[in-house]
Amino acid sequence: MNSKMKKSILAIILIGLTIIAVKSNANSVKDFSKTNLTDSVKKNVVDPVCKMKLKANASKTTVYNRVTYSFCSESCKQKFVAEPAKYVKK
Ligand SMILES: [Zn+2]
Repeated sequence: MNSKMKKSILAIILIGLTIIAVKSNANSVKDFSKTNLTDSVKKNVVDPVCKMKLKANASKTTVYNRVTYSFCSESCKQKFVAEPAKYVKK
């Protein structure tokens, strides 16, 4: 076996390993975003001001500390915006 052949065999092995690494990486990224999505949906179910249960697609929303909060009405949203720390669980 000459050194040129050895090199090309090594290259094929490296390409194979890279494909495996990229594939497993893509899978873990997908899993991570799935978990994240479930988390944010959970946080949107209850109005933090009046504790009323809401549909996930509530139209009154605001973002505080990078978390989206949903409200049953504009007045609940205004109360939250005025004093968000009062309604957010620590
Ligand atoms: Zn409300």
